Amino acid sequence: MATANPLREALTSGKFCYVVELVASRLTREAKLLEVASQLATVPGVVAGSITSYAGGAMGHDPIRVGTAARARGLIPNIHVTCVNRDRAGAQRTLEDLHGLGIENILALTGDFPKETVETKAQAKFELDSVQLIRLIQEMREKGMSFWIAAAVSPFKYAEADCNYQYLKLEKKIAAGADYAITQLGFDARKFRELKVYLLEKGLKTPVLGNVYVLSGKAAEKMSRGEPPGCWVAPELLERIQQEVKAADKGLPARLERAARMVAVVRGLGYAGAYLGGEHRAEHVRWIIRRAESLADRWRELADEFNYRPRGGFFLYESTPAKPRKRGRIPRLLDTLGRIFPVARDAALRRLLIGVFQWVDKRPRVERLVERGEFLLKAPLFGCQACGNCVLGAMEYVCPQTCPKNLRNGPCGGTLLGRCEVVDQECIWVEVYERAKAMQRVESLREYIPPRNPALQGTSSWVNYFLDRDNRPGKKVALHRIEEIASARSADRDPKSIVRG
Ligand code: SF4
Repeated sequence: MATANPLREALTSGKFCYVVELVASRLTREAKLLEVASQLATVPGVVAGSITSYAGGAMGHDPIRVGTAARARGLIPNIHVTCVNRDRAGAQRTLEDLHGLGIENILALTGDFPKETVETKAQAKFELDSVQLIRLIQEMREKGMSFWIAAAVSPFKYAEADCNYQYLKLEKKIAAGADYAITQLGFDARKFRELKVYLLEKGLKTPVLGNVYVLSGKAAEKMSRGEPPGCWVAPELLERIQQEVKAADKGLPARLERAARMVAVVRGLGYAGAYLGGEHRAEHVRWIIRRAESLADRWRELADEFNYRPRGGFFLYESTPAKPRKRGRIPRLLDTLGRIFPVARDAALRRLLIGVFQWVDKRPRVERLVERGEFLLKAPLFGCQACGNCVLGAMEYVCPQTCPKNLRNGPCGGTLLGRCEVVDQECIWVEVYERAKAMQRVESLREYIPPRNPALQGTSSWVNYFLDRDNRPGKKVALHRIEEIASARSADRDPKSIVRG
């Protein structure tokens, strides 16, 4: 039987709730974090403390230990579980530990790229991405473990590909098993509204917590430089906050007021709750909650205050999509070859190739030659890294291994105007999106791509494909199909009319 979980109960009953983020960084003493947890447990409306893991790419306290101790002090934890340096077996062990401890709430994230890895240029390990992690949690839930799964989404993306992909990926996360979503931080009511419109248009009634960050001068400065990845503060907002902190009260009342106003706005827009970050002192959280309630009726007017966005930024329902990029010769050629030789469909051709690769497989030297030949062909064309589990066909011929996090189901939340958070290059998912757009098959990007089989590294993906050793889309039956969810949840109201500010 499921035990009491105020977070789950609030979200399933539609009661507006608050989750407060506790950053378990090494800079904060664990005892201090727990003292904060005990105080937050006494604040009406606060249903959980969200314990970060690897925030900003730096190792902190063990979130499971902090979460367990916070629960002993009366605050229900929501543990951030990331894919950073964690393989599937490691993720499974963490989930088993959480289940063993009776911790139900999990925020499943890809995670920030480890800082020390960027500095040393070492290879970070991302065997799973957030969609695959959610799917794993869902599989464990089907085996009887009780989990309540949160997914992250950032509506605050102002480049067309980033913006579209965030929403496509959210749909994948929901299809994989996410129960609710939490937004990344941003100060733009139009983007908060855009996400709600999107979900309602798709018939998805997944509850969403709006991120309300109590922005200090220091945090605003860092975020104006795009740190941590995915967080962005507009120059106008930075300037305003810099003015506020010059006051004798160091700008505290102004930032608490801003947070309360933002809570009122997200509540008015139909968000299920607020995810409070940047401030965890109980008396301040209590003040924000009370003040937000008193402002509830003014949310439409207050929404106009949150208009921090880059000039010319992309809005899904307002901007005109750019003309599709011209696809290169290689994707065009591969599409043509795929049409002439449909190896997945043509039974005779497939049987022939299976026979050939069975023959190859029995001869290690020949197999090695095939593997080297494949690599020599694919390395210059796609940046192939011989993972042995090729999904080029599902990713518009863009190799997922060229993403520093090796993601297979879409970009992480760290992109900034189409640029990668780790290396100075365009995010690989921009090209995936552009090629799909040029072929009018963006819908196909919703397909779930399972994690690669790491045991296949350094082997021929052609052999693995024909001998059915690899993990590829459609190989396993999807747990939930987007279409089924969408049809099961009928949109009973005109979404745009609800959320128009
Ligand atoms: S997905 Fe794997 S096999 Fe395919 S190109 Fe990329 S590294 Fe090579």
